[in-house]
Amino acid sequence: MIITPMPASSHEEIYCVEDTATGLLGYIAVHSTQLGPAAGGLRMRPYASAQEALTDVKRLSQGMTYKNAAAGLPLGGGKAVIIGHPGTDKTPELLHAFGRAIDTLQGRYFTAEDMGMAPADMGHLAEVTPFVAGLSNGEFASGDPSPITARGIYNAIRTAQGHHCGSADLDGVTVAVQGLGNVGWYLCTQLSSAGANLIVTDTDAVRISKAKTAFGAAAVEPDQIYAAKADIFAPCAIGGILNPETIPQLNVGIVAGGANNQLASPQDGLALHARGILYAPDFVANGGGIINVATEILRISDQAAFVEEKLEALDLTMQAILSQARAENTCPDAVAVATVQAKMARRAA
Ligand code: NAD
Repeated sequence: MIITPMPASSHEEIYCVEDTATGLLGYIAVHSTQLGPAAGGLRMRPYASAQEALTDVKRLSQGMTYKNAAAGLPLGGGKAVIIGHPGTDKTPELLHAFGRAIDTLQGRYFTAEDMGMAPADMGHLAEVTPFVAGLSNGEFASGDPSPITARGIYNAIRTAQGHHCGSADLDGVTVAVQGLGNVGWYLCTQLSSAGANLIVTDTDAVRISKAKTAFGAAAVEPDQIYAAKADIFAPCAIGGILNPETIPQLNVGIVAGGANNQLASPQDGLALHARGILYAPDFVANGGGIINVATEILRISDQAAFVEEKLEALDLTMQAILSQARAENTCPDAVAVATVQAKMARRAA
């Protein structure tokens, strides 16, 4: 395994990780350790190029700095990506090689699950480094963060609905969900229990078919989800899906979901606002997962109480952001970024 530092003007540290024996190519980015050790998940995707993966890890690690600050955690922002298909390229040996790379940072970066990773994969990383969370076994093991992530998103959807329509009741409300993976599936379960009607999509036809059966959901092709007529659009798959091509198609009053980096650029937040669509900032809405992971990194003894307290505080933060955005007639994303930047500046002073 070879770990090579890369130029990192916008970040504290960025590394390229390679291992010829296992075919590993990936990156680790530490955006900020101002609030504590950097924490953020490990993603495995068949990126089209190394440049695409590098751009993703940089954006995602900055998002983790904001997410951890918004969630009130004493953690900084970091992220890691591996280029490859999780279904065919992921082996214990490849994960061991990546784990050894994480270990060289000596706790400046803690990893956990993100797209393409499961608790069993974290187990393989933990065989070679202690700087990993989201484990299934062990004294402070916190397991799969997805159910808590989905709870936080569900809270954000209710809060946005209450803000936009005067009532947070989701009975009879139609939600278009993009992505039926770990987060999307748990979210659909909660929405369905609350009486919401679901329109779903995924690139995996099997998951769509299961959602039709489990939730009585209507289904559309992946490229049709943007134009779906619904009250709420909940992106729970990939980033960058709110952009100049998709925003004009939207047929909803609210966008609130769990995917990271939903806005292709900050201008897209303004474009949503100009269309009168309320956007619940992603890094606040999806903070539940890192709250759950934090119980393991911080070795919290009463994990359930910690999670409940932080989820409640996160919801209050979302409410405050939406209220301020309304008062200032601006987009909530800009308010959310300013809020966490002010919080970090206060901490640094
Ligand atoms: P996952 O890999 O389990 O699920 C992603 C799903 O999206 C899969 O079913 C996949 O087939 C589908 N998908 C991929 N591209 C798609 C497309 N173009 N259109 C429709 N569907 C598509 O991942 P996950 O853990 O559910 O995470 C989903 C999103 O939430 C990611 O952006 C992730 O970074 C974010 N997130 C996850 C957590 C967590 O706890 N898992 C926490 C915070 C944020």
